[in-house]
Amino acid sequence: MSFDADVIIVGGGLSGLSAGITAVKEGLNVILLERGEYSGAKNVSGGRMYIHALQKLIPDALERAPLERPITKETYEFYCKNKKLIFSFEEKGKKNSYSVLRAKFDRWLASEAESLGLLISYSTLVTNAYRENGGITLETNRGTLRAPLVIDASGVTSVVFRYLGLRNFTPDKWMLGVKEIVKANVSLSEDEGEARTIVGLINGVKGGGFVYTNKDTLSVGMAVTFDSLPKSEVPAKDLVENFREKLGIEGEILEYSAHAIPYYGFKNLQQLYADNLIAVGDSAGFLINDGFTIRGMDLAIASGMIAGLVAKKIVEMKDFTKTNIYYDMLKESFVLKHLELAYSRFELINRGTTLNNYTEILCDLLSDMFTVTEDRKTLIEYALLKLKEKGISLTQAIRDMVSAVK
Ligand SMILES: Cc1cc2nc3c(=O)[nH]c(=O)nc-3n(C[C@H](O)[C@H](O)[C@H](O)COP(=O)(O)OP(=O)(O)OC[C@H]3O[C@@H](n4cnc5c(N)ncnc54)[C@H](O)[C@@H]3O)c2cc1C
Repeated sequence: MSFDADVIIVGGGLSGLSAGITAVKEGLNVILLERGEYSGAKNVSGGRMYIHALQKLIPDALERAPLERPITKETYEFYCKNKKLIFSFEEKGKKNSYSVLRAKFDRWLASEAESLGLLISYSTLVTNAYRENGGITLETNRGTLRAPLVIDASGVTSVVFRYLGLRNFTPDKWMLGVKEIVKANVSLSEDEGEARTIVGLINGVKGGGFVYTNKDTLSVGMAVTFDSLPKSEVPAKDLVENFREKLGIEGEILEYSAHAIPYYGFKNLQQLYADNLIAVGDSAGFLINDGFTIRGMDLAIASGMIAGLVAKKIVEMKDFTKTNIYYDMLKESFVLKHLELAYSRFELINRGTTLNNYTEILCDLLSDMFTVTEDRKTLIEYALLKLKEKGISLTQAIRDMVSAVK
């Protein structure tokens, strides 16, 4: 039984396209299967992309890619009932991350891939996978395809791993991401953009929200853990609308999307490779949410590029059990290093109500500082009092502080 390609990639998002671009540049015969009518059709809405990986994939991307705005201003907003703490940091001219609209961006990246020779089959839904004759057979709505190596780039549901019995559905390890694109009159010059990170606006949920400035729209969204949704003051379906209204953002809603976000943390990552099979991007669980940044796009591009390089090595060796090379290369790259670095903050954010507790302590502390009565205490006395009220020992607070800055 012959194979249809050296490599088949399932999923035409950032990780799949990056794997495809790299593999065709390496001279491999590659087919990519995407269920959407075009790349980006299922990736609506926007986000913020740290562009270092993209610049490795396409060195002149800054001049050609449909990026929205460079993020030059970071604003953090903490809400605790009737109190609010805001701080901003601005760095004019900074070009480290950009706001992007995925429908536009993914479509552009797919056209780059096709011009390099990647064969993309759109409207092709992979419905099953099984092992056969030293390779993997993929059943789709448009027929059956076989390859000795498959790259699973299907996002958080990792369909190929699941069909092969290598993954369980693990929503307890996912976050719910909800986003809207809102038409807006942006009053910034075109080389400026703002990323707002917002915590504590919706009571009960574990997670936070964001607002990114695009050219003439805003990406407004929230990422919250599934297990905290029952405690939310707002039902999941109204989360982003309520969040936007509380922020006072008005305008025509151009898009709405809801999507699961993998949130395993470094020490709980799922199986990343098996014989004939590699997972990249969200399918591998590569997501960092350390309280300051949500990052999946740069990890998706970088892991896809590594998978493309590994595919070349494995095809040359003609040994499709050697997918462990992928893990070795990931360990050398920033992908696993950054995930490991972010782990202490991952644990901190996930421990009970830690984030909310400290936010409230900070707000109360500031409130006391700005209140004058006859009973005035020192800052440290106030801090100790607030910690005691929340049932947090000083040792625990110091430990948490160390985790936060690690
Ligand atoms: C609300 C929210 C906010 C986010 N914000 C940011 C941010 O600001 N910055 C950042 O870096 N990251 C952010 N992320 C994470 C980022 O979007 C992901 O990490 C990234 O998109 C992963 O890319 P991927 O290619 O691995 O997966 P995806 O983008 O999910 O692509 C998977 C592709 O596979 C296709 N597919 C799925 N199943 C099948 C099938 N059976 N057959 C064929 N095709 C299939 C899908 O149609 C899709 O095109 C955010 C995510 C969410 C949900």
